[in-house]
Amino acid sequence: MRILVTGGAGFLGSHLCGRFLAEGEQVICMDNLLTGDKKNIAGFLKNKRFKFVKHDVSQHIKLPGALDWILHFASPASPVDYAKYPIPTLKVGSLGTHNALGLARAKSAKFLLASTSEIYGDPAVSPQPESYWGNVNCIGPRGVYDEAKRFAEAITMAYHRIHGLDTRIVRIFNTYGPRMKLSDGRLIPNMLVQTVRGEPLTVYGDGKQTRSFCYVDDLVEGIVRLMNSNIHDPVNIGNPEERTILDFVKALEGLAGKRLAVKHLPLPQDDPKVRCPNITIAQKKLGWTPSVELKDGLARTLTDFRSRITS
Ligand code: UDP
Repeated sequence: MRILVTGGAGFLGSHLCGRFLAEGEQVICMDNLLTGDKKNIAGFLKNKRFKFVKHDVSQHIKLPGALDWILHFASPASPVDYAKYPIPTLKVGSLGTHNALGLARAKSAKFLLASTSEIYGDPAVSPQPESYWGNVNCIGPRGVYDEAKRFAEAITMAYHRIHGLDTRIVRIFNTYGPRMKLSDGRLIPNMLVQTVRGEPLTVYGDGKQTRSFCYVDDLVEGIVRLMNSNIHDPVNIGNPEERTILDFVKALEGLAGKRLAVKHLPLPQDDPKVRCPNITIAQKKLGWTPSVELKDGLARTLTDFRSRITS
């Protein structure tokens, strides 16, 4: 197959590129490198089946040749990044998704939208099933990402219903693993950098808010299964093991083998109080369930962070 991954030089995009290359496919990675990094794809550049195209998908996409699959991952995804780039975030979720869908239609390609648990906002229902409509502050600081992704879901479903495009929507919950930017700003990269540098771990608010963390390889497996399914409605992919931020600090202490100092900082506005996926659909219809334990995934990610920080 010939596969386009938009945002292919980002954290998740680069892991998808790696998976498809390992399966013998041809991969085109398109990225404007706003939050992506060429270092993430450095290992693929010599592969004849891999091509990097520097392009902002919020602008018209011109790509010669046939395409079988398009996986649309282009977007800032860290709250720190989308606060820094609010307009590019809104544009890539709306205009970028429209362009990627138009390309999929022109090429008769199967299309997958990378959506997010953020479409549930600060959820009043937990765990969140796909049927939950969410609780989003559209004009708050996170609204630029949440609403862009909600629009992206809406236009993806419209292309499916109106144009018969073969679409998939994955709602991605917190995911972590090697290659996350050191300056990403999300919980796991922040705390791994702090652990390696011997700095206190920054806990926002009282640390009683919850998240659930999925290792990147599990997520990629779920996405590949979704692509190979015939499900057009959104599917949650994430790890349902819910933890408070303070529990997460304990897990890191277990890994470090010592107590770690903690520094409390103010809770950012609209920070969701809980987040946990209901993955019944993925389990029943895709036969998917995450298999990497937090301590193992964290150990692998810490090794990657250590090598990047000390090199
Ligand atoms: N958080 C924290 N310390 C940090 C970074 C994040 O306590 O250094 C908290 C943040 O307030 C949130 C949770 O960890 O409740 C997850 O935040 P993240 O930025 O990873 O992504 P989110 O799940 O909010 O999109």
